[in-house]
Amino acid sequence: MRLSQSLIPTLKETPAEAQIASHRLMLRAGMIRQMASGIYAWLPAGQRVLSRIAQIVREEQDAAGAQEVLMPTIQSADLWRESGRYEAYGKEMLRITDRHERELLYGPTNEEMITAIVRDSVKSYRDLPQLPYHIQWKFRDEVRPRFGVLRGREFLMKDAYSFDLDYAGALAAYKKMMLAYMRTFQRIGITAIPMRADTGAIGGDLSHEFHILAPTGESGVFYDSAFETGDAAQATDIEAFYERMTSIYAATDEKHDEAVWAQIPPERRREGRGIEVGQIFYFGTKYSKAMEFAVIGPDGQKIYPEMGSYGIGVSRLVGAIIEASHDEAGIIWPDAIAPWRAAILNLRPGDAATDALCEQLYAALGAQALYDDRAERAGHKFAEADLMGHPWQLIVGPRGAANGMVELKRRATGERLELPVDAALARVCG
Ligand code: ATP
Ligand code: MG
Repeated sequence: MRLSQSLIPTLKETPAEAQIASHRLMLRAGMIRQMASGIYAWLPAGQRVLSRIAQIVREEQDAAGAQEVLMPTIQSADLWRESGRYEAYGKEMLRITDRHERELLYGPTNEEMITAIVRDSVKSYRDLPQLPYHIQWKFRDEVRPRFGVLRGREFLMKDAYSFDLDYAGALAAYKKMMLAYMRTFQRIGITAIPMRADTGAIGGDLSHEFHILAPTGESGVFYDSAFETGDAAQATDIEAFYERMTSIYAATDEKHDEAVWAQIPPERRREGRGIEVGQIFYFGTKYSKAMEFAVIGPDGQKIYPEMGSYGIGVSRLVGAIIEASHDEAGIIWPDAIAPWRAAILNLRPGDAATDALCEQLYAALGAQALYDDRAERAGHKFAEADLMGHPWQLIVGPRGAANGMVELKRRATGERLELPVDAALARVCG
């Protein structure tokens, strides 16, 4: 992408409405624009990050054996009357009436809909387990939408749902999802800690929330420093992995247990704040019974499937990652989800050698590069590249270009190196 032709409306001024770093930086870097309270349009720089995160989430769900589907955003009120949640959900649900006076809603989650779909097509115990998921927009009419995409009203969620014949099967699905989540966050390049959680409105008896550590997080968190090593997801045996994840202490303030905490050696106790980026639940037969979904078992008996649901806040992750990874100058993208791997900064557009070298770099990197070809001051280009957070900057000026040299800057460390073109490209692509 040539910056001169792009739709990346960066801002010099800090927008007054943004209270926290990620919201300010996403607006300033031209990633999003607010269209209504808690509702955002994603511009190219934002959309690229969002879709990279979604793709990693998708690959790890697929690797765990989940099947991707796509359910609609609009649901019928009758579906929610079956579970009793249509009245219970309250004002967070956006209710809609169509031209025939039929009651609809914009889905805040999909337990009812997926249960109805599986109920319609699965009749025998032989057809279970099932583990469908989708990545779809949700709407919750939050009382106080704030912090940009961290607490929006419309937001992108990955939600998976497990249907098993018995508790053992449901627990196996739960463990598989926990492992998939840890792998997902590790691939994205962030540390997320699984915390024992309240099951909240959904109810049930087993739940973990996944939190990214950031000073602006809404939850207080207590955890054992063993989670800082980040090698948790390396476990080859899922039982050993789950045992390890659930035996090391980590809890949000709601579930914090002082007695257990006191037994952890003081040098391993960590306290901080966290942003919830995902949550997994086991809730048994709550929906299958309420919605009369049973399969016929081997002996002709009815079996109500044991269920779980597994969410990741895909759009919230974009903001949460920035909260965890930025500095005074701007965003610092982890390599795996950066909108572009590298920015090419042409410090003298119009200088033949500089232009030629930039074009050569741009041809080599293709869609992985954002080429700043604008007739702007060098200082402005440096500042905007730092703001946008590209992992690498390839800086080209007339002096270096005359000798085929490029300056390579690593955003995360600030390290700068003079390199021949091929060596610089090898670093960026390596
Ligand atoms: P919160 O406690 O933050 O309101 P929740 O527990 O109600 O979230 P879940 O039902 O667990 O949310 O939804 C799964 C995931 O969807 C959450 O872990 C979070 O990452 C994301 N999410 C929930 N509400 C929002 C929102 N208003 N804006 C952005 N992401 C959200
Ligand atoms: Mg939650």
